[in-house]
Amino acid sequence: MKWKEQITGMKAYQPGKSIDAVKKEFGLDEIVKLASNENPFGSSPKVREFLANESFNFALYPDGYATNLRAAVATKLGVEENELIFGNGSDELISIITRALLYPGVNTVMAKPTFSQYGLNAKIEGAEIREVPLVDGNHDLDAMLEAIDDNTAVVWVCSPNNPTGVVVEDAPLQAFLKKVPSDVLVVLDEAYFEYVTNARHKDTIPYIQDYPNVIILRTFSKAYGLAAFRVGYGIANKELIAKLDPVRGPFNNTVLSQAIAQVALEDDAYIEKCREENNKGKKQIEEFCGKNNLHFFTTDTNFILMEVKVDSDVVFQELMKRGFIIRSGNALGTPGYIRVTIGTQAQNEGFLTQLEVVLQEQG
Ligand code: PMP
Repeated sequence: MKWKEQITGMKAYQPGKSIDAVKKEFGLDEIVKLASNENPFGSSPKVREFLANESFNFALYPDGYATNLRAAVATKLGVEENELIFGNGSDELISIITRALLYPGVNTVMAKPTFSQYGLNAKIEGAEIREVPLVDGNHDLDAMLEAIDDNTAVVWVCSPNNPTGVVVEDAPLQAFLKKVPSDVLVVLDEAYFEYVTNARHKDTIPYIQDYPNVIILRTFSKAYGLAAFRVGYGIANKELIAKLDPVRGPFNNTVLSQAIAQVALEDDAYIEKCREENNKGKKQIEEFCGKNNLHFFTTDTNFILMEVKVDSDVVFQELMKRGFIIRSGNALGTPGYIRVTIGTQAQNEGFLTQLEVVLQEQG
């Protein structure tokens, strides 16, 4: 068969281990998954209430334009409805952007390490990948500017960055956006936007007016606690959205996903509560790091990248045996570190207790 040359030998994306897989492998009943930066508190209780009371006609295709969800998001953000595009998770939007703009002969600039989907999709399309090392967990925006040339089509800014959790502050971001050539698309991936507390970060929505080459990606998978339903959205000026929209698959958000995302969107108090709990959990883990002299990155997300000083794969395996799934830094380009989702207070306590034991055994 006539496969694309670049997919030969390519490995499939390896997500965090699933609860069921670990239960089966280790014969455990109780597993705590702190591996994929999901909301440990779940979604708004209003979502369950809604599901219990609503009925749907599953024989009909969903609304391919996500009319009601679109109107709700537009109102909430103060943007026009035609300045939005919805995806089956922001993962699909990353893929749509890549399919629309990347091909052999063009290049794409991104941080290293950053969210792996940018590179994976770019590779499938055969584009050259230019990776610019982070500095202290932060994007080196000056070096990224230097990496841009006439053949650059897309620049990825993951803010806050996965896996470091560090947010790009407003002043450097603005200076960067001013200098990026207007024919280069800047993707501002803000999957963790709702968790950001850094006062030097500002809401980026106004930038879609100032910079017609910027698209912001957000998602219902993280703070909204709806990862299972796969809803992400892009915000950009309407010409950009109109260019991307034909690349989007038809009916790409299910009827349930659209309805539930809309319910979750309206519960601001729930998001606020989750943010507060997340801040408490962050402190819990940071204090542990401080006490044990382990470096960590200042995170504006619901995960933290922390040093373990021993082989991260061993820590990952040992924690899994004890019922905790985390991510080894070896899989994320940060050896010697682990990435852990900030859980409930009880989950964090359990994780830290087990981690202490593992580190003592290995140290
Ligand atoms: N961007 C970043 C930075 C992420 O960490 C993730 C999820 N791990 C995504 C995008 C994709 O999220 P989703 O497809 O669930 O919206």
